[in-house]
Amino acid sequence: MEDCIFCKIINGDIPSEKVYEDDKIYCFKDINPVTPVHVLIVPKKHIPSLNETMDEDKEILGYILFKAKDIAKILKIEDNGYRIVTNCGENAGQSVFHIHFHLLGGKTLLWP
Ligand code: AMP
Ligand code: ZN
Repeated sequence: MEDCIFCKIINGDIPSEKVYEDDKIYCFKDINPVTPVHVLIVPKKHIPSLNETMDEDKEILGYILFKAKDIAKILKIEDNGYRIVTNCGENAGQSVFHIHFHLLGGKTLLWP
């Protein structure tokens, strides 16, 4: 995807603060953190949002949630707790249309 900012981050054309990477996902610090710890977990495959996921994407969606605890451990927030959020579409405020999962922590999180 030529003009996707997260594809460019994944392939190194745009710099990022990498936290974790493997063959399926890339995790980096959010440039505008809303909590003391705020990273984004993205699949290397370009998928615009939850709305465009297909049968073949079930595995990567599960994998991202499965790996979240390992990334939380890297960030030293696994014991105190954290939240995973994915925004889908306009009402949720999605601003980058390469699906991503916010991993938020480092303080008590208010709900909603
Ligand atoms: P969303 O609003 O759910 O689409 O989230 C997009 C997130 O991407 C926001 O929290 C932005 O701060 C973050 N973001 C945008 N550009 C960059 C970048 N170049 N590096 C790191 N995070 C970014
Ligand atoms: Zn992309």
